[in-house]
Amino acid sequence: MVYRAEYIWIDGQKPTAKLRSKTRIVADADAPQEWGFDGSSTEQAPGDSSDCVLNPVRVVPDPIRGGDDKLVLCEVLNTDMTPHDTNTRANCAEVSSRYASHEPWFGIEQEYTFFKDGRPHGWPAGGFPAPQGGYYCGVGADEIWGRDIVEHHTEACIDAGLSISGTNAEVMIGQWEFQIGPGDALLVSDEIWLARWLLYRIAEEYDISAHLMPKPVSGDWNGAGAHTNFSTKEMRESYDPIIAACEALGKKADVHIKQYGAGIEQRLTGLHETAPWTEYNYGVSDRGASVRIPWQVARDGKGYIEDRRPNANMDPYVVTALITDSVCSEIDG
Ligand code: ADP
Ligand code: MN
Ligand code: MN
Ligand code: MN
Repeated sequence: MVYRAEYIWIDGQKPTAKLRSKTRIVADADAPQEWGFDGSSTEQAPGDSSDCVLNPVRVVPDPIRGGDDKLVLCEVLNTDMTPHDTNTRANCAEVSSRYASHEPWFGIEQEYTFFKDGRPHGWPAGGFPAPQGGYYCGVGADEIWGRDIVEHHTEACIDAGLSISGTNAEVMIGQWEFQIGPGDALLVSDEIWLARWLLYRIAEEYDISAHLMPKPVSGDWNGAGAHTNFSTKEMRESYDPIIAACEALGKKADVHIKQYGAGIEQRLTGLHETAPWTEYNYGVSDRGASVRIPWQVARDGKGYIEDRRPNANMDPYVVTALITDSVCSEIDG
């Protein structure tokens, strides 16, 4: 017998890369091997030298097809087996191994918005919905759109063995969140990409599209972020390293903002539970800060911090590598 392996990879679209996938039929006894694709169709190669390599990096059960079928997350390599320019995972792996002794953990809150017929799911044709206020963690057909898809997606993530840790309806109509983690940078980032792929794929079946755009509706509506929760071994043991991490992130605020997702200035306005993208601050329980120290962490004197700045459309390999590098290089001096 054979099984189906869905090879999933990140393309070269700018400013925000998207996911691609194709199916390979594999002999039952074999693990998924390297494969190739046409990079000239994904903005990853010129037409006269179009081959790129798919190198499997994480294999999980395929919760959609079931049985022995697999999802195969891949990194993209050049034909000489060096990392392709668009392969941000390679740097994340390098940074993670450099600072492995600090045992960095991440938990990412992925917000997203469902769209139907060109507008956010739940938005009435030719009019306006009730202003936001009741939608966050709401219940009832007047507040909630798309829960069937969310439940389906959550089950799929669990069946695939991903470390999904929760879901909730968000502040804007048709907007939702799932969380992955805590776990190390590569695991959580790989799983964010796999969970995004599952979200798009499952929403297809409902004729709805899921989007990561940071400000889907301008005006008095919350944007979509990817709050990135972070700790090191030192931060999980005492409070001074928590403050040191907040300070370290502040020193490199400009570098971080530039790599936290396209369109960040539309979302980080200083309104709608954000700090302005031009400023950096941190505080306990402060949802208007760049970085929040959760109240339990202040009470217990140890734990983790929440970087609230990353956009929903951020690349988790880039964000987790940056945070690891900025915080751990300070500890190491
Ligand atoms: P919020 O109150 O901001 O909505 P959530 O409950 O949505 O918070 O998300 C909190 C995230 O923090 C989860 O993804 C969880 O895995 C992560 N987390 C918890 N403890 C740690 C830790 N020690 N280090 C890193 N991340 C953590
Ligand atoms: Mn959350
Ligand atoms: Mn949220
Ligand atoms: Mn949060």
